[in-house]
Amino acid sequence: ETIGQNLEKTVAQYPNAIALISVHQNIRMDYITFWEETTKVAKALLAKGIQSGDRVGIWSPNRYEWVILQYATSRIGVVLVNLNPAYRKKELQYVVNQSGMKMIVSALSYKTSDYSKMIAKIKRKTDCLKEAIFFDDNWDDFVAMHTETSDAIIEAVEARVQFDDPINLQYTSGTTGFPKGVTLSHHNILNNGYFIGERLHYTNLDKVCLPVPFFHCFGMVIGNLSITSHGACMVIPSESFDPKATLQAVQDEKCTSLYGVPTMFIAELQLPNFNDYDLTSLRTGVMAGSPCPVEIMKQVQSKMYMKEVSICYGMTETSPVSTQTLIGAPLDKQVSTVGTVQDHLEIKIINPETGEIVPRGVSGELCTRGYSVMLKYWDNPEATQQVLDSARWMHTGDLAMIDEEGYISITGRIKDIIIRGGENVSPREIEEYLYTHENVEDVQVIGVPDEKYGEEIMAWVKLISGSIVTEEDLRAFCKDEIAHYKIPKYWKFVDSFPMTVSGKVRKVEMREISTKELG
Ligand code: ATP
Ligand code: MG
Repeated sequence: ETIGQNLEKTVAQYPNAIALISVHQNIRMDYITFWEETTKVAKALLAKGIQSGDRVGIWSPNRYEWVILQYATSRIGVVLVNLNPAYRKKELQYVVNQSGMKMIVSALSYKTSDYSKMIAKIKRKTDCLKEAIFFDDNWDDFVAMHTETSDAIIEAVEARVQFDDPINLQYTSGTTGFPKGVTLSHHNILNNGYFIGERLHYTNLDKVCLPVPFFHCFGMVIGNLSITSHGACMVIPSESFDPKATLQAVQDEKCTSLYGVPTMFIAELQLPNFNDYDLTSLRTGVMAGSPCPVEIMKQVQSKMYMKEVSICYGMTETSPVSTQTLIGAPLDKQVSTVGTVQDHLEIKIINPETGEIVPRGVSGELCTRGYSVMLKYWDNPEATQQVLDSARWMHTGDLAMIDEEGYISITGRIKDIIIRGGENVSPREIEEYLYTHENVEDVQVIGVPDEKYGEEIMAWVKLISGSIVTEEDLRAFCKDEIAHYKIPKYWKFVDSFPMTVSGKVRKVEMREISTKELG
């Protein structure tokens, strides 16, 4: 089934249910209106000469039109290219060229960046890019072009769309070379969204608060597709993450589910007036994207009423979710593991050197296979071959282990592992321990170059505001609790961490900063 067919089914079942609420734009839309809006945009795209298989970029923070464009492009088999709002000219130009983008839809500006200027420059220099449409500018004129496309034409185009056609490109952050375009099909992301929603027990009565960005799978798959495939409602609190706006939206819209990367939940829990928000409508939610500390999970369960919060693990290359905790799983498994393998997928844990499967309880590289594995990296067969083997196992680069009952724990990333004096140290393990200190709000552990040991361990610590804790206190807190060689040598107290727009900590940048500082 295609995304268009799936949406049509939902619309037929719940025409008058609310599909989407954009709080910051003051928009509410029922499913039938949502469908009509996607029809208009799809017809406008066709009127502009965009055809199935063409690439159309979206460069904008979260707003309802983002979602309309997502479904409009899917319906007619156009490949939506998600562009990170943090991109600047160089990254944008690379992706425009690499994907052969024909049209871009964008916000005029965002924060301090003038998007329209950057796009104008790139358009002059790039042959493939023919059209630029801006929200709050020529978007309405563009949508009005829908009258030029007849029902018969769009129906004919939709009828030719296949479930395994590519419809989405998302570029990796490019920390290890040029960004790669993860190429995803209806089959990849619609199924993933659907099965994620199944594990969350979504129905048409659920309202899901989405402070996570749409340009990532977290927003557009774990969010949008799990919601529309179950007739539920998406709630967009703000353009980009804002803890106050998020909790306000949960309260005002009586949301039943709330998403976030761990740092978002931390920011919400730390709001000085956290207790003033009525969050009793929440029953579930998703934490994902990076390691989810047990302490934070426990606080989310106890203070945010999300007794059944679910952890998802995955990566863009796998649509994204490979494992997920199940509502109703034993409590300790819910907070300390990433759950069990998603339905209809396979997982194995191998020794990355030999490729052999390791015994249960032993850490190795997680590999996954099944419907969720991307089609390829766009126009990059070498990179595709490096991660996808001939039996179509996706090699994730993540370290994990699987216990007797099939619960999976992520123990680190191969490239994050610190090797200190020949000893492999997992930053994750040290972070988990430091989180249990009552004055530690957030902590990130990295390896920094060292002449004697190859690498030394460094902790960046964000304390709960107002608390006074010294390096010596933290060292004493570790002594006799974790092995001496795992106790960080360097400590740095910070107010914030270098972050990606999607709210992930940029350890690469932390390492660069600290390496410089340590000289
Ligand atoms: P890049 O674009 O450079 O590949 P990235 O790998 O961070 O950056 P994503 O595909 O969005 O980009 O993130 C996937 C990675 O995030 C996984 O490979 C894993 O390391 C980490 N991750 C995701 N969910 C979890 C989780 N629940 N627990 C631990 N780690 C997680
Ligand atoms: Mg990755």
